[in-house]
Amino acid sequence: MAWYPGATKRELQPESDNQPAIRPTQLILHSIAAPWSGERMYEYWRDSTNLESHFGCAYDGGLFQFIGTQTRADANASANRRADGTGAVSVETASNLQHTDPWTEAQLDTLTALGVWMHQHHGVPLRVCRTWDDPGFGYHRLFAKWSVDGTACPGDARVRQFDQRLFPAIVAAAGGDPVPVIPAPRPAVDLAELVAAARSDPARKGAPVTYVGTRMVENALVAEGLLAPSLADGHYGTATVRAYAEWQRRLGYNGSDADGIPGRRSLSRLGAKHGFTVA
Ligand SMILES: [Zn+2]
Repeated sequence: MAWYPGATKRELQPESDNQPAIRPTQLILHSIAAPWSGERMYEYWRDSTNLESHFGCAYDGGLFQFIGTQTRADANASANRRADGTGAVSVETASNLQHTDPWTEAQLDTLTALGVWMHQHHGVPLRVCRTWDDPGFGYHRLFAKWSVDGTACPGDARVRQFDQRLFPAIVAAAGGDPVPVIPAPRPAVDLAELVAAARSDPARKGAPVTYVGTRMVENALVAEGLLAPSLADGHYGTATVRAYAEWQRRLGYNGSDADGIPGRRSLSRLGAKHGFTVA
C-alpha cells in the first residue's frame, strides 16, 4: 500500500486491512455534500457508511488519507476494483450541502499536487478517462458505471473547474510529456428511457421504472428551485412530474405540452444549463 507524503495519514480499519489490493489506474474526484474537515470525514466512514474514499480534502486544502492507494476503496461503484485488478483512487472534497459551490483555491492546489503524484508514483496517464475503465483522471458523474444509481457529484461548478483549470494544471505541473487536453464528455440522458420512467408513476402503477438519468434531471430541477432536495430520490414520481411541468411552463409551454413528461426541446434546455446532453 502507498501513502501520499502530502497527506495526513488516518488509516481506516478494518477496511485498510481487509479490502483487496488494486493497481491504481484512475483518480476520481468527488464532492461530499458537507463542509467537513478530513478528521470529520474519517469519523463518518468509521461510524456511518462503507462508501469510503482514499482521500479527503477540506476547504482549506488540508488532505487526509484513509486507505492506501493500492487497496480498494468503495466510493466508485464498478471502478473500485475491476476483474483485472486495476481500480480507481478516490478523493472526497468538502463542499456545501448541495455540492454546488466551486473548489477553493486551496483545494485546487492540493488536488493538483495529488494528481501529479498519482501520475509520477502510479503512472496514471495525463488524460481524462475516455471510458469508465480507461486509465486517467475523472470526476464521479463522468461515467454511469462509477455510481450505483446515478449521481450529480460533483456539481456543475466543479466540473467546469475540472475541465478548464484543474486537469490542465495537473498536466502542466506534471511536466514531462503531456498529452493534449481532451474535453471531458458530458453525461447523456436517454430521452426514451427517461420518458418510460416518467410514465411509470409509482402512485398509479406497480413497480416504478428506474433510470439513472432521472437523478440528473431531478438535480437540475432542484438547482432551478422547482423541486425540494428531499424529493430528488431517483424515481420519476408525482413530485418530479409536477416540478418538470413547472419547468415546461417556464419555457412557455402550457396545457398538454406542460404535462411533466419530458420532450426533447425542454430537456435539452435543462441539460444545457445543468451539464448533460440528450440522447
Ligand atoms: Zn461522488
